[in-house]
Amino acid sequence: MSGINYNPFEIAQEQFDKAASILELDSGTRELLRQPMREFHFTVPVKMDDGSTKVFKAFRIQHNDARGPAKGGIRFHPHETADTVRALSMWMTWKCAVVDIPLGGGKGGVICDPHNLSAAEQERLCRGYIRQIYKQLGPNLDVPAPDVMTNSQHMLWMLDEYETITGGRYPGMITGKPVGMGGSLGRTEATGYGVIYVLKAFLDQINQPIDSTTASIQGFGNVAEYAARKYTELGGRVIAVSCWNQSDARAYTFRKETGCDIDQLAAIKDSFGSIDKEKALELGYELLPGDDWIKQDVDILIPAALENQITPAVFPNISSRVSIICEAANGPTTPDCDSLILQKGIALLPDFLCNAGGVTCSYFEQVQSNMNYFWDKDEVHQKLERSMKKAFRAVYELAEEKNLYMRNAAYIIAINRVAHAVRLRGWV
Ligand code: NAD
Repeated sequence: MSGINYNPFEIAQEQFDKAASILELDSGTRELLRQPMREFHFTVPVKMDDGSTKVFKAFRIQHNDARGPAKGGIRFHPHETADTVRALSMWMTWKCAVVDIPLGGGKGGVICDPHNLSAAEQERLCRGYIRQIYKQLGPNLDVPAPDVMTNSQHMLWMLDEYETITGGRYPGMITGKPVGMGGSLGRTEATGYGVIYVLKAFLDQINQPIDSTTASIQGFGNVAEYAARKYTELGGRVIAVSCWNQSDARAYTFRKETGCDIDQLAAIKDSFGSIDKEKALELGYELLPGDDWIKQDVDILIPAALENQITPAVFPNISSRVSIICEAANGPTTPDCDSLILQKGIALLPDFLCNAGGVTCSYFEQVQSNMNYFWDKDEVHQKLERSMKKAFRAVYELAEEKNLYMRNAAYIIAINRVAHAVRLRGWV
């Protein structure tokens, strides 16, 4: 990458400021929305298996809850920072607003590496986290979910601790629960499928049949795999996917000119989304450096792994054939790249619209949990497709009408909805 240190909160504020200026937002609303409303920084003491006590730093940040309870994941990461959690909580507000679900934005994090914690230590950390913050959480206050390095088991421990303390059953207090324990069918596929519902809606608008297109994808984790599955199911051809290889401590790109077989690659990947390179070579895949996913001569780039991947430093590597960047990851493009994308005439489908399928399905889970009645998978996917396409159409139509970059159009819709709620409540 370029070596520039991108601060996610500064990026989130810069993107917000751009849209707020286009919107001519009044100074009070601007001041309120460009920072979180509430931040909780706390410590979680955990009894370790060897009898010692380790103290973990943790956060829960609620950016805005004018449209409904705050919603957002809890990450376990050794390099977690307050600014990352702030930025992510802000992006959650816009994400929920752009798909028009009645939720606000929040995010949580613990500075830790779960790889170095036993299952029992992780359980005590989850329960300890809830003991410190439970008064600020709840189905009507703030609803956490899994995120980086947290999963459905962590969510269930957290729910159990919350219910033990509060003395009731509140399955709508958290989402990402295991199916059968309040989880929703279809959640695993939701983010990746949602990305492709948006992409397909855009291709329909520009009259480009999806089965005439090719794509290169960064990542092969939850989002990337299901995006690749839905894209190929609809007739698209994935030429390359890249992923991180833990044992070599480097990334690789796997390419097959005739099109990657997603079932085949999924069968040789581990639970962290790393593809076995020996097996891939045997199956006839070319093995290229990790950064080469961006250099492929394809119609569509789908960054679905990490933030800050498309920077001015790597932008010249993008093939002249690329006409669409479909942002599946959070923040994969740095703000200093937006003008280059515009100049090159590439259509950008922005992250908080593209990857909103996950939170939309989390909302469906909360609805199902609250009424204690669960839908089948087809019903979940149909509702998801409808929500994603509706959200895309609103963004696309505004962008067309006002000649706006789609990221700005998405921000304008989201910020307008939140600003409206804030004004109706009389906060500004
Ligand atoms: P994941 O952990 O399941 O997968 C991450 C993938 O990225 C893995 O295949 C990994 O090998 C790959 N990767 C890591 N470093 C890489 C590198 N340097 N080069 C190439 N590949 C690399 O994560 P995920 O859940 O799929 O999330 C991916 C992105 O989507 C993140 O930005 C996340 O915040 C965002 N997102 C996820 C969801 C969700 O529901 N999972 C929802 C919204 C946004």
